[in-house]
Amino acid sequence: MTKPPNIVDQANGVDMHCHVDLYESPRALLESAERARIVTVAVTNAPSVYLFTEGLAQLSAFVVPALGFHPELVESHGHELQLFEQLFPRTRFIGEIGLDYCSPDRGTRQRQRRLFEAIITMCALQRDKVLTIHSRRAVSDVIAVVGHAFPGTAILHWFSGTSKQLRDAVSAGFWFSVNSAMVLSANGVRLIAEMPRERVLTETDGPFVMVGEEPAKPEDTQIVLRYLANLWRLPVPETTQVILNNFQRATQSASLPSKSLP
Ligand code: MN
Repeated sequence: MTKPPNIVDQANGVDMHCHVDLYESPRALLESAERARIVTVAVTNAPSVYLFTEGLAQLSAFVVPALGFHPELVESHGHELQLFEQLFPRTRFIGEIGLDYCSPDRGTRQRQRRLFEAIITMCALQRDKVLTIHSRRAVSDVIAVVGHAFPGTAILHWFSGTSKQLRDAVSAGFWFSVNSAMVLSANGVRLIAEMPRERVLTETDGPFVMVGEEPAKPEDTQIVLRYLANLWRLPVPETTQVILNNFQRATQSASLPSKSLP
């Protein structure tokens, strides 16, 4: 389960949020991440599919598995919280978790929030977890649940809130992972410009995000790197280094001696 501690030194980029298990061929995706040398956080949507992804991740030094519980699965998979707790010590990476208030149902929102609170409580006790969080139409509640002094790293994936919510998230200590769909949207572009450089990471959210006709692959984080390079007025290699350094900091444990990933 242990990765060599120096994968970031050997990497060409970071995909902080990729649903490796949901590609037509997870093995092919894994090989492409390995070839491109992109550190890839393989998120999962439910505890019952975690071990499959963990097994895949063992085949590549660049892929780390994340234990997740997608808010939209709270009704169908809510009974898996106990399994989540059992698997929890197996990885420092937690996601995809969060809240999704596209559902107008108050009961569903309440159950999502209770599940998210339970997960955040577990993570806060552990102190070294790295979280990739969904917050569609629910940014304020996500910030309220995670709080302002979360011990660990909380990353808002595909942030789509308001500028005010972005500022609140920054002051609460959140990080952001940016994908290629965001750089194509007016709101995304406006928000990216307001994100502090030292809190930005790259992601694909593949296979949900498409690049042309194909699901985004970890190497497509290059699209975001080129966009950020232009925005920050840096050469692409320096921009890549900023992101790799950010990943290094995001995954450094505050309370434990440094150890290899995950
Ligand atoms: Mn996702």
